[in-house]
Amino acid sequence: MDLRGRTAIVTGAARGIGAAIAGALVADGARVVIGDILDGEGEELAERLGDGAVYVHLDVTDSAHWQAALAEAERLFGPVSVLVNNAGIVEFGGIADQPADSFRRVIDINLYGAWLGMRTALPSLRRAGGGCIVNISSTAGLMGYANLGAYTASKWGLRGLTKTAALELAADGVRVCSVHPGPIRTPMTSGMDDSLTAGQPIPRFGEPEEVAQMVHFIITRATYSTGSEFVVDGGAATGITPPVNPST
Ligand code: NAP
Repeated sequence: MDLRGRTAIVTGAARGIGAAIAGALVADGARVVIGDILDGEGEELAERLGDGAVYVHLDVTDSAHWQAALAEAERLFGPVSVLVNNAGIVEFGGIADQPADSFRRVIDINLYGAWLGMRTALPSLRRAGGGCIVNISSTAGLMGYANLGAYTASKWGLRGLTKTAALELAADGVRVCSVHPGPIRTPMTSGMDDSLTAGQPIPRFGEPEEVAQMVHFIITRATYSTGSEFVVDGGAATGITPPVNPST
């Protein structure tokens, strides 16, 4: 088990991609703090995962919550060497019509929350002697999407912040990478149908476990990668193949 004896925090981990990441890390021996604002689902997941997991209420935009989560992680399991900033929301709206408070909320959770997590966790990562931070961005951090300006800005911002953190934290032995999922079957995408994936080279939704496998790989195997982007999108960001008539 690669992660035996390691302490991890995964945010937004009560369900969806975060829950799959928490499960993969526990399965490999890590002790995982599941942070979320969905207390019922978070506690149930921790119960299911057993002694290797504990749930804490962690709103990623709240500095006091971060301090408390880090303190609880250290008290129960020891210094944190893995941080996965996964918590995120999506809110639709065009440049012309998205309410300002909606734009700010998306940036606050998806970008500011990850920044706050990295800076709060840094002393613990140093006490652990180094480690790995994985920031869950999106294909919306690689290209544009109409009516998703706030989300796209937050995910490009997180990709940029990842590169800066990789440069700043290298001296502490901390690698920092971003992950860019395409459409993944979770509660976040429950209202979206299969037509969304029809033009992809792999024309289906991905599963949360397929993202979790990539995150696990980055933490345990990608030892020469930092500031790097890892894409898990069925080829969505590669481009859409237009219909081609070979006879013309
Ligand atoms: P999800 O099923 O909605 O799970 C996200 C979790 O984060 C939810 O439990 C959510 O709680 C929680 N959360 C929201 N605001 C929070 C806050 N302030 N502090 C802590 N937790 C908070 O979404 P998902 O699909 O698993 O997405 C996980 C990450 O992957 C997100 O960053 C998302 O942007 C990214 N992503 C997802 C996809 C996809 O297709 N699913 C694609 C690309 C990237 P609430 O339900 O109360 O909001």
